[in-house]
Amino acid sequence: MLLQQIREELVTLNCALPENELVKWTSGNVSIRDTETGYVAIKPSGVMFEDLTPESMVVLDLEGNVVEGDAKPSSDTASHLYIYRHMPEINGVVHTHSNYATAFAAVGKPIPPVLTAIADEFGGPIPCGDFALIGGEQIGKVVVESIGSSPAILLKNHGVFTVGKSGTAAVKAAIMVEDVARTVWLAMQIGQPEEIPADLIARLNDRYTNVYGQ
Ligand code: 13P
Repeated sequence: MLLQQIREELVTLNCALPENELVKWTSGNVSIRDTETGYVAIKPSGVMFEDLTPESMVVLDLEGNVVEGDAKPSSDTASHLYIYRHMPEINGVVHTHSNYATAFAAVGKPIPPVLTAIADEFGGPIPCGDFALIGGEQIGKVVVESIGSSPAILLKNHGVFTVGKSGTAAVKAAIMVEDVARTVWLAMQIGQPEEIPADLIARLNDRYTNVYGQ
């Protein structure tokens, strides 16, 4: 079987979505691009997370031809592939309907940079892209056009897409975007949170990117 290790990683990363309360039932999906073959492996459509297996993942080329797999791939496959074709440094894509971030998406508002965690992880506001229909490349086009240098974007009236250099990085961004969205929403109940000035956001992001951690 092709991409055995990536298939196993995809089971873990897809299951991380319900484990972190980012999705319910069969919503959401994770894909990974294999840097050697260029193939993309993605969750099968509409399968319960607890039923996902390495064998159930679908492997496709960047044009959408199924290379290996019996199941119908995720309904967001064409959009994931569009993102991989247009963002060569990206090897992981995640979609969720996490509640607090999706609440911002429902009203078409970006998440403002009012927390150091937003400056650290996202380097500025988390943008909200236009509405796009599910099923084709439209969502991918909005992501590529509007995500900028943030690893996360809200899709108006829909949910969250995140990208990363790896599947793990993209899942991390999905967890962090929900965490900051929740805090910002809570802050908005007790006052008007103030945005961190752009020069300080740049300094925070630089420290987090280049100094933080081991
Ligand atoms: P799939 O199960 O087809 O990936 O659909 C989940 C979803 O959230 C589509 O936007």
